[in-house]
Amino acid sequence: MTNIYNFSAGPAVLPKEVLAQAAAEMLDWQGSGMSVMEMSHRGPEFISIYRAAERDLRELLAVPDNYKILFMQGGGLSQNAVIPMNLIGNGDATIDFVQTGSWSSKSIKEAARYAKVNVAATAKDNGYTFVPPQSEWKLTPGAAYLHLCTNETIDGVEIDFVPTAQGATTLVADMSSHILSRPVDVARYGVIFGGAQKNIGPAGVTVVIVREDLLGKAVPYTPSAFDFKNVADNESMYNTPPTYGIYIAGLVFQWLKRQGGVAEMERRNIEKAALLYAALDADDFYQNRVQKEYRSRMNVPFYLRDESKNEAFLAGAKERGLLQLKGHKSVGGMRASIYNAMPIEGVQALVDYLNEFAGR
Ligand SMILES: *Cc1c(COP(=O)(O)O)cnc(C)c1O
Repeated sequence: MTNIYNFSAGPAVLPKEVLAQAAAEMLDWQGSGMSVMEMSHRGPEFISIYRAAERDLRELLAVPDNYKILFMQGGGLSQNAVIPMNLIGNGDATIDFVQTGSWSSKSIKEAARYAKVNVAATAKDNGYTFVPPQSEWKLTPGAAYLHLCTNETIDGVEIDFVPTAQGATTLVADMSSHILSRPVDVARYGVIFGGAQKNIGPAGVTVVIVREDLLGKAVPYTPSAFDFKNVADNESMYNTPPTYGIYIAGLVFQWLKRQGGVAEMERRNIEKAALLYAALDADDFYQNRVQKEYRSRMNVPFYLRDESKNEAFLAGAKERGLLQLKGHKSVGGMRASIYNAMPIEGVQALVDYLNEFAGR
């Protein structure tokens, strides 16, 4: 059977080694006689799994001591409400946003239910093909925070710099689809969050990294299970956490450490992205519309010049074991997500097919 390569944007490919280990431990986790799914979240077995996952993630991202790592539920989208509730305090706060694509747009819409929002800059009129330059951001003095989606999963736009712009002193970043793909200077952010199902593990876990001085300021109507301080004080176990998802995420963290950590991941991700974009740029058979310096290393949307060939392209890809290449319904076309767990062999197989289909 040919190798299968899964280019889904999320839930997405996981390292084969991780899935094999989970399978081997499914019925009996390390002699405990229990599946991880059957364990009390307050028992010593799961507590050890939880603490190892927390410790390994902290090590991988070099998370400073004055940050809490929370494993929450509700997905990335829930954080669009949870973060405002936790950070706007009791006043009539304004939240600044830079609108770079579909996901930041959703964040803006949701935040407007809780606070005033200011779209400091937008790339909407340009079809989300670049990041508006910082010099054009119209930030609000004294804003509660500035929210960025540092990798737009649908539009394929990545912000690879930390803003130096003034305005809000607190930066909030939705890193759902590129967390752990490259080193990040956590200390520059107030909150980093991401749904797990792109680059961490299975759906159902939401990772939140929050600076300690931001805890304890939630508006009174914040649900207790979503109050960062409450979650932090209870080591993510105020209510039952997504135990199995945390376990798999923990195995992914161990796998990342064995590979050489995020610096090595970045090296591989640069190589994979370069290979794929070169094939797309070779002539005008395919097209990626994002300006080169903002192209995502993780999510690569592209179009066939002749869109009547879309179905044939996808059918041929599937025959070759190249799965889930159809673009997001809101933008059409194709999308190849090449997360950490996608080996370069998978990208090479896709490139070979791109060349073959284009008749090169
Ligand atoms: C997938 C995604 C989300 C939404 O995550 P859910 O877990 O479905 O709520 C939010 N932001 C970004 C950048 C994403 O890629």
